[in-house]
Amino acid sequence: MKLYNIKENDEQVSFGQAVRQGLGRNQGLFFPSQLPFFDDIDSLLAEDFTSRSSKILSALIGDELSEQQVSELVNAAFQFPAPIKAVKDGVYALELFHGPTLAFKDFGGRFMAQSLAAVSDGGKITILTATSGDTGAAVAHAFYGMDDINVVILYPKGKISPLQESLFCTLGKNIHTVAINGDFDDCQALVKNAFDDEKLRQDIGLNSANSINISRLMAQICYYFEAAAQMSKTERENLVISVPSGNFGNLTAGLLAKALGLPVKRFIAATNANDTVPRYLETGQWDPKPTVATTSNAMDVSQPNNWPRIEELCRVKEWGLETLGKGAVTDTQSAESVKELHELGYLCEPHGAIAYRVLDQQLAEGETGLFLCTAHPAKFKEVVDDILETDIDLPGPLAKHAAMELLSEERDNDFDALKEVLYAAQK
Ligand SMILES: *Cc1c(COP(=O)(O)O)cnc(C)c1O
Repeated sequence: MKLYNIKENDEQVSFGQAVRQGLGRNQGLFFPSQLPFFDDIDSLLAEDFTSRSSKILSALIGDELSEQQVSELVNAAFQFPAPIKAVKDGVYALELFHGPTLAFKDFGGRFMAQSLAAVSDGGKITILTATSGDTGAAVAHAFYGMDDINVVILYPKGKISPLQESLFCTLGKNIHTVAINGDFDDCQALVKNAFDDEKLRQDIGLNSANSINISRLMAQICYYFEAAAQMSKTERENLVISVPSGNFGNLTAGLLAKALGLPVKRFIAATNANDTVPRYLETGQWDPKPTVATTSNAMDVSQPNNWPRIEELCRVKEWGLETLGKGAVTDTQSAESVKELHELGYLCEPHGAIAYRVLDQQLAEGETGLFLCTAHPAKFKEVVDDILETDIDLPGPLAKHAAMELLSEERDNDFDALKEVLYAAQK
């Protein structure tokens, strides 16, 4: 697999380099130089989730890893299903929250962890990341127990929900969690300091595991095929897919699935009040506003970092941007949709409900609609309980971790203190 830097096209890397490096020069994103195309979609869709996913990813990765190796990565990463559920006539929910941290980020995080181990040159790897909640959990669980990879996760002490904290601070082994006396921006600044320290970087093999890593998107391509595979041939012929979007990685993966041959009639980019992309698609002006806090906080992003990949893909495939559906949804409207879905017998949290709402408004006669449910409703328990005036149950993994002892260390917002933790984690 060859990839190029979208900003500086002369920088070309292999899959292994792209996974290890994350970003290219000048903060440029990597994009595949060539995309395979599957002619016989019906027989591909007839396969089971993991063998089909191995085929897709192997075709993308090419001869850098053997088919056998790719299949091992996929089997280790995708240990949970991605079922579709009929919500009403012609409308399905794709449930992406059956992994260990109950959000779709488990797919990308786990595949990235496996890929990084597979392409490692045998040196030390330390994953350092700052989290305001969800990413930390997915990264911690994805790398948990892996040999030769240490993970250090920083979070603002007292500023994430106790439920979130319990999900990633109770693991131990190679997962080190540090509660910083500061806010999320302080944590991010500490991470940045660490990456700017060349000696530290070399000594401990720093890597960030963040969401721009191409391996994450590659994993996410697979569940779009899995959704279509669960529909009849007629249903999937006029398929419209609505994606609740923040950094736009998920939508990029969907469009890549289409580029590989998955027949999708139309995609819809659904956002909350952070509506840079819907406004851009409407007016042609890229005009990000300050980020506002919403009840769908995993989508509170006003400068989506995967957007350049979508523009690049549309350029390469000669797809007009106007073919993308779009819509922005307020908190009041998403609450209405959570209620509406509940009345239809489907429990959904605000991120999924936003995708449902825009889909429902724009779906035409004869089309089949699919909206992505990116998180388990219990992950947003406070919001969902509040909207539905109920008290939803915690699923097994959340309840189990909530009862476990927190293992975090506490540190001041101080780079030397962080360095000590990073070197100590090597032992
Ligand atoms: C990360 C996240 C999103 C946004 O996904 P992007 O790929 O960043 O667009 C949506 N919903 C949930 C629950 C998330 O955690």
